[in-house]
Amino acid sequence: MRVLRTALDVPVAKLFDYLIDDAAPAAPGDRVVVPFGARQRVGVVVEIGDGSAVAAARLKPVARVLDDAPRLPADWLEQMRFLAAYYQRPLGETVAGALPPRLRSVKPLPRRREQAAAPGRGAGARFVASHQPNSAQATAIERIGAALEGFQAFLLHGVTGSGKTEVYLRLIARVLARGGQALVLVPEIGLTPQLEARFRHAFPDARIAVLHSALEDAARTHAWLDAARGEAQIVLGTRLAVLTPLPHLALVVVDEEHDASFKQQEGLRYSGRDAAVQRAKLADCPIVLGTATPSLETWFNCSAGRYACLTLAERAVPGARLPVVRTVDLRTESAEHGLAKPVTEAIRARLARGEQSLVFINRRGYAPVLACEACGWAAGCARCTSHLVLHAADRKLRCHHCGAEQPIPGACPTCGNVDLRALGRGTQRVEETLAALFPAARIVRIDRDSTRRRAELARKLEGVGRGEADILVGTQLLAKGHDFPDLTLVCVLNADSALLSTDFRSAERLFATLAQVGGRSGRREQPGEVLVQTRYPGHPMFEALARHDYAGFAESQLAERRSAGFPPYVHEAALRAEAKKLDSVMAFLRAAARLLPAPAGVRIYDPVPHVITRRAGLERAQLLVQSASRPALQDFLRQWSAALPASAPKTMRWHLDVDPIEFD
Ligand code: ADP
Ligand code: ZN
Ligand code: ZN
Repeated sequence: MRVLRTALDVPVAKLFDYLIDDAAPAAPGDRVVVPFGARQRVGVVVEIGDGSAVAAARLKPVARVLDDAPRLPADWLEQMRFLAAYYQRPLGETVAGALPPRLRSVKPLPRRREQAAAPGRGAGARFVASHQPNSAQATAIERIGAALEGFQAFLLHGVTGSGKTEVYLRLIARVLARGGQALVLVPEIGLTPQLEARFRHAFPDARIAVLHSALEDAARTHAWLDAARGEAQIVLGTRLAVLTPLPHLALVVVDEEHDASFKQQEGLRYSGRDAAVQRAKLADCPIVLGTATPSLETWFNCSAGRYACLTLAERAVPGARLPVVRTVDLRTESAEHGLAKPVTEAIRARLARGEQSLVFINRRGYAPVLACEACGWAAGCARCTSHLVLHAADRKLRCHHCGAEQPIPGACPTCGNVDLRALGRGTQRVEETLAALFPAARIVRIDRDSTRRRAELARKLEGVGRGEADILVGTQLLAKGHDFPDLTLVCVLNADSALLSTDFRSAERLFATLAQVGGRSGRREQPGEVLVQTRYPGHPMFEALARHDYAGFAESQLAERRSAGFPPYVHEAALRAEAKKLDSVMAFLRAAARLLPAPAGVRIYDPVPHVITRRAGLERAQLLVQSASRPALQDFLRQWSAALPASAPKTMRWHLDVDPIEFD
């Protein structure tokens, strides 16, 4: 008796068997419609088997085999198997999450629009060069170009503006000429419309599929099918693009590989970067991880000789140099409305010269706290352990953790005092202060409140690039990849909160953010300057930043991590849980910790509540599992995740996060 083993999107980690219909034979990788309970579902055939553990009389036949999309290739199924096993999720859920919505539906795909015949492989590979590579770029291109035949991971460690993109483009040109497909992953596509334009300019005849989660279903399905049919030569996308079948994959690029947004924070909590490395292995092709500030995991892999490191130490535009970085000592400089004198003077000088300034503050809204100084009351979220943020623009108090909002109260709800104070500052307040100081300046604020839509953000950024702003105020959104030719000054207002954080990754993140945001300045002939306001001007991180010494910073961080027993010297997984009452969460986690004896080399820590214990009405805690041995940890996690569901009360929400990076 021959059966199909299919992966179905149901929350259990097993495959489902169906009888093969000899009239419509199916093979692994085919999508099939199968009866499941009272409904029909789409499954993906994973194996063909002889016999089944299910009694023959209870086996149902496949309803139909879908052939409106290409059969999913073996290396793709292999990747799905790997991800499901590594991140401890059901294969069916993993497969379903990787397919665009329309391929998960039992409804047939709309008939394919008649298109020009697919280009032959290697066609459309015309490459329009913008620059002659400089010698560092040429070396990187030669080294990677000589390794196109098999798997090899490269770190392209290039300072901001060193021309990493030019290196990617030239390598892609080589790969396309040989008929291969290139996969390029970027943190967030909406933020970098310039990047897509550069690709289209460099490859005017190539089919480029752009993939990200904000696409409409139809567009996403179309791009996905283009890639899966081998017709798109370049796939440019966010982390989910790594889950696309690419029959001729010959090069993988991960730009800004250190970026935390490569990690998915729900469902299959995969790292897009790590999945990309695995993918390149399966496709037996090289992968290039590009960044000015590598993640310590990647740096460690270079030190250990697993990745080859190529360096672009200089900016590519002739005459452009890295910015001068200086600290402004807040212990001696008084800061009026949050801006120290050297900062306002530096902005004034830029205005006089017609250059742009960027003021970076990692907090949106007007002020993070609204308080009553008479009785000590502060506006808090009813559903979270956090303060409500004052948003002056639309006169609301808003919780940044659960999204709850309410009007600003006219008086203190406990003592009736009408003189409520906004404490601290966010982007809106800084914008207000700057507008008062420099009434003639054109000020543009960029954060998630000012620009809710990607298109709007892209338009604003393009305007800034054309010189239609004098001062930019914004958050993280401004740190990434933008090229503003007239920007010569970056001011960082509140770096210290990250220095004081208890998260062991905060120094790494702060260094990366400051190097990236600082890297927006001085990208042309005029030199750039970065001013960082701080109470800790002697902090070694600022010294390393001023020397542009990533390597020195990374080595000192790694030494600390090694002695403290933190990643990358150990591997981790977190079990997180939430429910109405913290007691029950802690009880569940304590029981989970004792569910299986910890094997040798695996350490299970006691559960601890999250810093923001309550979020959206649920109380949260987590426990950490560590091991220096990846296989030992994986082995334990496999057994543990099989045993956990039975031990969880029905009302408990929980998940495992393998290689977690967020601990708030
Ligand atoms: P990165 O991605 O490393 O930050 P980019 O690839 O965006 O850097 O390049 C930064 C700037 O340098 C761009 O304006 C680019 O056009 C320019 N550039 C890149 N390579 C060269 C080169 N070989 N000669 C001159 N300019 C270059
Ligand atoms: Zn009061
Ligand atoms: Zn809240």
